[in-house]
Amino acid sequence: MDTSRSHDLFTRAQALMPGGVNSPVRAFKSVGGEPFFTQRADGAYLFDVDGNRYIDYVGSWGPMIVGHNHPQVLDAVIATARDGLSFGTPNPLEVTMAETITRLIPSCEMVRMVNSGTEATLSAIRLARGATGRARIVKFEGCYHGHGDSFLVKAGSGALTFGVPTSPGVPKALADLTLTLPYNDIEAAEKLFDEHGDDIAALIIEPVVGNANCLPPRAGFLQQLRELCTQHGALLIFDEVMTGFRVALGGAQARYGVAPDLSTFGKVIGGGMPVGAYGGRRELMQQIAPAGPIYQAGTLSGNPVAMAAGLAMLDLVQAPGFYDALEAKTNALCDGLEAAARDAGVAFSTQRVGGMFGLFFSAEKVDTYAQAVACDSARFNRFFHAMLERGVFLAPSAFEAGFMSSAHAQAEIDATVAAAREAFAEIAA
Ligand code: PLP
Repeated sequence: MDTSRSHDLFTRAQALMPGGVNSPVRAFKSVGGEPFFTQRADGAYLFDVDGNRYIDYVGSWGPMIVGHNHPQVLDAVIATARDGLSFGTPNPLEVTMAETITRLIPSCEMVRMVNSGTEATLSAIRLARGATGRARIVKFEGCYHGHGDSFLVKAGSGALTFGVPTSPGVPKALADLTLTLPYNDIEAAEKLFDEHGDDIAALIIEPVVGNANCLPPRAGFLQQLRELCTQHGALLIFDEVMTGFRVALGGAQARYGVAPDLSTFGKVIGGGMPVGAYGGRRELMQQIAPAGPIYQAGTLSGNPVAMAAGLAMLDLVQAPGFYDALEAKTNALCDGLEAAARDAGVAFSTQRVGGMFGLFFSAEKVDTYAQAVACDSARFNRFFHAMLERGVFLAPSAFEAGFMSSAHAQAEIDATVAAAREAFAEIAA
């Protein structure tokens, strides 16, 4: 595979941008080697600058749930852009977006648009602290909520991959306010609330962890957290930046039947444009400026072009049967990969929830962070490269979920499983 143009670009990029990238995990540091540079994307495929084609299971890290370059999304963006890129006044698409989100996510009676998932989680935590008058927050090991200071404590995603659980630059005084818990361990949560319950403003969780591979919640876990928060007057925040409109139309909260006080969104709701949102109960959201005293703002928030992309995407995912079909594809892929690994004698298991999945180099089913960390990541790295050479792009880290799109047809799934048969045989040795 010729990757000379990508190599040249990466050499130039490394002299100009930290690590050659604008977001760490793109640099392939955890899997080794060099990233490819994408020229264009279409449907289930990425095409790099050297003319190589990859079946894409990263999907821009989640947003591209209908595949790349979907004509409906593209047309909406182009048509809206013709009327101007940003106004600095309210625009009608923001109202349609708010109506759409509040209709699809009943726990969000009001919503505020922002520009990234990070902004959404930062704002939700400020609201939780402002509304409760409490300072502490609780998060789970391996969960990633963006790069806000309060969250870079035992975080997942790039922070986990690089083994930097607490980033330099995060003041200790602030990190001390973030308490961490093991995911899927309700006893640990009960104990922590017994000790600190009165000081806790909010518990924030990825209801399905997508930043420590893919860890679904155990039966009753999210319900029990809901009860704990209610009992102690803490707010429950579901960070649905990844799971929102991904594991079900109504997100993880619909799939598991638990209503959080606040929710955060990103990725899918932007259709590939930089968008985030947070929302929740009316009496909480009314405390945000200018309705209330808790400040949060954004020059480009509610940007018309971004709203148009997101609305087109949300329109597509509301098609009847969209999530059943997506889930069936995820299952077909994961079943195929498990069978291929079994035939090659490689210890391997998967997790799947709706349109997201996890690949684990472990014989057992994995649903805790400790188990995820104990998986054979060196083997994953070899598998990643063996798949890449065969034209399949998996997330370049053993600690990231994979994403299915509606553009992946049986042909792409079959081709992926065929590539995996060869890749598993190669790494079995
Ligand atoms: N929350 C979750 C669950 C995420 O997966 C991410 C990003 O991957 C974020 C928050 C941060 O979103 P962004 O990268 O848009 O700032």
